[in-house]
Amino acid sequence: MANNRILLCLAHMSGQEMNYIQEAFDTNWVVPLGPNVNAFEEDLERLCGEGKRVVVLSSGTAAIHLALVNLGVGRDDEVICQSMTFSASANPIVYQGATPVFVDSERDSWNMDPNLLEDAIKDRIAKTGRKPKAIIPVYLYGMPAMIDEIMAVAQHYEIPVIEDSAEAFGSRYRDQLCGTFGMFGIMSFNGNKMITTSGGGALICPDEATKKKTMFYATQSREPVPYYLHKEIGYNYRMSNICAGIGRGQMTILDEHLAHHRHLCNRYIELFSKVDGITVHVNPDNRFDSNYWLNTILIDPTKTGVDYDNIRLHLEACNIESRPLWKPMHTQPVFAGAPAYVNGVSEELFSMGLCLPSGPYVSDEDVERVAHEIIACCKR
Ligand SMILES: *Cc1c(COP(=O)(O)O)cnc(C)c1O
Repeated sequence: MANNRILLCLAHMSGQEMNYIQEAFDTNWVVPLGPNVNAFEEDLERLCGEGKRVVVLSSGTAAIHLALVNLGVGRDDEVICQSMTFSASANPIVYQGATPVFVDSERDSWNMDPNLLEDAIKDRIAKTGRKPKAIIPVYLYGMPAMIDEIMAVAQHYEIPVIEDSAEAFGSRYRDQLCGTFGMFGIMSFNGNKMITTSGGGALICPDEATKKKTMFYATQSREPVPYYLHKEIGYNYRMSNICAGIGRGQMTILDEHLAHHRHLCNRYIELFSKVDGITVHVNPDNRFDSNYWLNTILIDPTKTGVDYDNIRLHLEACNIESRPLWKPMHTQPVFAGAPAYVNGVSEELFSMGLCLPSGPYVSDEDVERVAHEIIACCKR
């Protein structure tokens, strides 16, 4: 093939990973605890800043699940979740036997609309006589949500917030790390995320006691006695010392990765600046500082003459990977029965948007090729 395939976002190693893994083998710490786990958690706590404690886990989904377990979410409870997201944001609500209540997005960040959130809370209280047990806003593609406004609503109704910052590793809002605003925050180290441990995640906890309790749940809720004593249901969710070694290596190139993703965003902005009908999704104002995990565009077919799927198929024919935006949860068959508060924004975004190659292996030349093919497709 003359044109190499350009992929959305591939894992990229620093070279340090093997040293940490080798050390784990040499010292026989091939288990879900050990020096790499502790050191990786310390790295992440340093990133989060004062006060926060971090537990590394087997996935980001496990982290959301344990946040809900910590909050005592159970049957008959409702949990508010952003509708426009990956299903992993909402699935753990159902694991707990609770009901997800979906809230639509606002147009600027594409994340949870704070006004609609308040409408939803009021309506749930009116209809059920109870408050929702938690709120899960999401930072799609790395873009921070309007978290000040969301936190204000949450604090007014005294409902804890779990920030799904799985896609926003390193993103900031008013210079504060995403995932550190709410009671809990989520990190994901899956293969295609900002950094990877081949598979893994973390829960950002408010204090040491909550960290300890989370570690307890993640290791089968085993009571601290010599024999196996259990008073609560537990989970096998701890990260292995091998995976944590990869994570430690990845932390050494985090800044490089962030700089690269932001650089690619600037290239996309430049290349599409004169194209009528294509807009790059960028920070709405200077409070927002996205990691631009995946760069995304909106295509207005009334101006370009083609829709997002025409472009996706053309890119595919040119050996370039692209992907539609997340299909809103309130339109997913599996969540058909869940209450939803919608304003049309997420469905409109889904009908117009495309994620473009943005990872560490994507070069300036690749971005030019992607933009060139999109523009060529529009002119046809
Ligand atoms: C990736 C992702 C998750 C889940 O993380 P895993 O580590 O894959 O379990 C949750 N929410 C969002 C928005 C994600 O993109």
